[in-house]
Amino acid sequence: VDTPSSNGGDTSLETPLEDIENYHTLLHTTASTTHTHPLAWRRHQLLQLARMVQNHANELCDALWADMRKPRTEVIFTEIGALVQRAVKSAAKLEEWTKEERPSVGVHQGSWNATIYKVPKGVVLIIAPWNYPLILTLQPLIGALAAGCCALLKPSELVPTTSALLARLVSQYLDPSAVRVVLGGVPAATRLLALRWDHIHYTGNGRVARVVAAAAAKFLTPLNLELGGKGPVCVDPAYDVDLAAKRILWGKVNNAGQVCVAPDYILASYTSLDTLVASLRKWYAAFYPPSTGGALHSREYASIVSDAHYARLTGLLARTKGTIVMGGGTENSAEWPRRIEPTVVVGVQGDDALMEEEIFGPILPIIAIDAVDSAIDFVRSRPTPLVLYMFTEDPLFKQRILNETRSGNVVFNDVFQQLDVDELPFAGVGDSGYGNQIMEYTYQAFTQLRSSIDMPIDAEPALSVRYTPRGEDATRI
Ligand code: NAD
Repeated sequence: VDTPSSNGGDTSLETPLEDIENYHTLLHTTASTTHTHPLAWRRHQLLQLARMVQNHANELCDALWADMRKPRTEVIFTEIGALVQRAVKSAAKLEEWTKEERPSVGVHQGSWNATIYKVPKGVVLIIAPWNYPLILTLQPLIGALAAGCCALLKPSELVPTTSALLARLVSQYLDPSAVRVVLGGVPAATRLLALRWDHIHYTGNGRVARVVAAAAAKFLTPLNLELGGKGPVCVDPAYDVDLAAKRILWGKVNNAGQVCVAPDYILASYTSLDTLVASLRKWYAAFYPPSTGGALHSREYASIVSDAHYARLTGLLARTKGTIVMGGGTENSAEWPRRIEPTVVVGVQGDDALMEEEIFGPILPIIAIDAVDSAIDFVRSRPTPLVLYMFTEDPLFKQRILNETRSGNVVFNDVFQQLDVDELPFAGVGDSGYGNQIMEYTYQAFTQLRSSIDMPIDAEPALSVRYTPRGEDATRI
């Protein structure tokens, strides 16, 4: 699979729009029964999902290579491995998660049988982006299957080879009465959003999220909006700046910076700027030795996903008023399409082109600041990010970051690795979206907590006080 696509979307692979209503009807018909409720069904589907990903790991890697030259090891580590593990673990957790709860209640309510039932919400729509197209499509599906829901998946049109393969594999491995895939771009998504769903899980950018939220509002459909934003990295000059540089650069070169939790920009003290840049350069040469072609010709470095994103990113480099001090090279050839080197830019101000929107590419601006207060003020003056990174060993700085800033997640002294912890919820806040996910949190998103009491006949004497005539004056204190 070696022909690069230009990723404008291959329309020959699209699901005919008229099929969408049929899929919708089929899934709702299934959800109106208890077909997907038994734990045995859920477990089987989850294990089938794990088998599907594991059995076809090579094909999936090849598809991602064709679509965006995504390095094989990155696909294995961040998508395939995590999916297999999370599907299997979720299957093992089903009994624990789905067990009805009997909350402890007031003394006089002890006989009322207060119960929380965990009910599948019904049919969920999962709209996924291109940057981690396997995990961002199938991870929500793991939660949906664990919850006993039906699901319609709409993967991204920007990775057509991968999305088409996913559609084929899903139809082979998963129950077709409960899971369907629609291939297509905006017309397909628009058609889907005109229909009623029981939950929508959207991962992507904030502009489209508003379109999704407006469509969902018509039916009062609950949402997960998993968005992005400019994730700041603050570096305390007292920290080991060389280690910070190594970790930050690793986080930025993953998927060529096309990561929702990529370090977007660095806030670094004037005093540590030169050391930081020297270390970034040192680690860049170590990660991608110039003698073997550097990042531009490395199989361990991804391409930019599409011509439009390539033009957007090279446009940012043309417009920045900062100075490129590392990288800056580009290439767009048949063998190495849409390549942009990891690029560090200094002398960047808050109003620079690089600070207008989420970069979502391998460009790393550094803004020089004088103290941690300035970093906090800067972050607070911007839209709420999905993630905030701070490199410091100072407990006071950590506490100040926790108390004085907001972000979906906060990570001290590393980047990206928070996504490796299955037990942590992952979600944005404010501009970066809302609705927790990962493992049990995704299961919960697709589960209704149905409250219930079952009042015994012999509770009647205790309840008699509620009936009229009660005697209004008797309640006077
Ligand atoms: P994208 O262009 O693939 O779009 C995402 C999905 O939205 C696709 O399936 C697409 O077909 C659909 N879509 C596009 N336009 C639409 C419209 N007008 N109406 C309805 N649906 C539409 O991906 P993207 O938005 O470029 O994704 C990148 C963004 O996603 C970044 O902002 C990134 O930070 C964010 N992201 C967030 C997370 C997270 O978990 N929080 C993970 C990955 C990416």
